[in-house]
Amino acid sequence: MKKVIIFGASGSVGRSAIELAKANPAQFKIVGASAGSRFKGLKKTAAELNIKHVLDTRGEMTTEVITSFIAQCEPDIVLNAVSGFAGLRFTLATLESNLPLALANKESLVAAGDFVMALSQERRAPIIPVDSEHSAIWQCLINDRTEIKPFHKIYLTCSGGPFFGQTDLSTVTPHQALEHPNWDMGAGITIDSATLANKCLEFFEAMHLFEATKDQVEIVIHPQSVVHSMVQFADSSIIAQLSPPSMQLPIAYALNYPERSECGLPSPDFSALDLNFRTPDKSTFRTLQVLEHCAAHMQNLPTVFNAVNEEARNAFIRGEISFLRIFEILEAVTSQTRVKPLESLEHIYEVDQSARAMAKSLIHKP
Ligand code: NDP
Ligand code: MG
Repeated sequence: MKKVIIFGASGSVGRSAIELAKANPAQFKIVGASAGSRFKGLKKTAAELNIKHVLDTRGEMTTEVITSFIAQCEPDIVLNAVSGFAGLRFTLATLESNLPLALANKESLVAAGDFVMALSQERRAPIIPVDSEHSAIWQCLINDRTEIKPFHKIYLTCSGGPFFGQTDLSTVTPHQALEHPNWDMGAGITIDSATLANKCLEFFEAMHLFEATKDQVEIVIHPQSVVHSMVQFADSSIIAQLSPPSMQLPIAYALNYPERSECGLPSPDFSALDLNFRTPDKSTFRTLQVLEHCAAHMQNLPTVFNAVNEEARNAFIRGEISFLRIFEILEAVTSQTRVKPLESLEHIYEVDQSARAMAKSLIHKP
């Protein structure tokens, strides 16, 4: 029986994890959970499932507050399913508590990857990816349960989002962008899947998790979301991970790691399975051009990319800017940012804040 904390328990990944624990009471016991605006709902769930400790994240969330919450819960593993840059503190607090981290919050790695990976090593606190692509890569790379095999290349698959195949995105509305063809997710990541910003974040996430260079990661469009990513080795052999598009498997895999267990997914009907692969359209999905610039320089640029993207896509959801304006704001701020090394965690918070301020000034420009 594994004792689990779920940070971000009221969200899409968090609720899937709760369902998983509910369906497998002999395997998982939720010992702590957090929510913010949906805290009331979480309290109800906590009463139902006998979750002893709950954290209302609307209060000030310093790393110390989170660390002492973790200590009270005495978990075996922590799932970070908080959305956005705010998830970074939950990642740091978990690693500082020397605990394994099942990581859905990709923004922690995008904004502070070098610090997070170094802390994970220093504390011997492994990070097990929950993002489906990275879970797939991990499953392709880990064969003896301890070591990551040397690889030649990672093929990061991407559904293409709801606008795959379109070249004019000038009239896209938030309602249209919130309809993802394959995945049911929180609003932020759903818009990021429509702009392909999500894939850019995942590109940086893969670089950090697997110590890959930018040339070792390639984005491949795969509209069916059945192949969750692939890894190529020195002899050109490619190993892929396939499963239906459901977060149940990557969540269960990360929480169970290194074991595997039943998670209720159907086997594929191969006679009806049609798998296609395409090259991404960089001229329509201009986030990919911004990615190229940021990946070529790294340092502070991924942190800036993440901050600007969060601000711009939230403004799009609120109806304040057009879909194409998300691309323009990302292009403007990342190209105007001086490339500088990230010196400390405090510096990362400053870089995040100033990038947000620049993005906001462009959002509010008439
Ligand atoms: P949701 O928006 O559905 O949920 C986000 C969760 O984070 C909620 O519990 C929310 O609490 C909490 N939260 C939001 N802001 C803060 C904050 N400032 N401090 C503390 N908690 C906060 O997001 P998803 O579940 O879709 O995504 C969560 C993470 O997982 C993201 O990083 C996403 O990129 C990643 N991911 C998601 C996938 C998916 O299928 N949804 C797939 C792969 C990765 P409340 O709402 O109560 O305020
Ligand atoms: Mg993903």
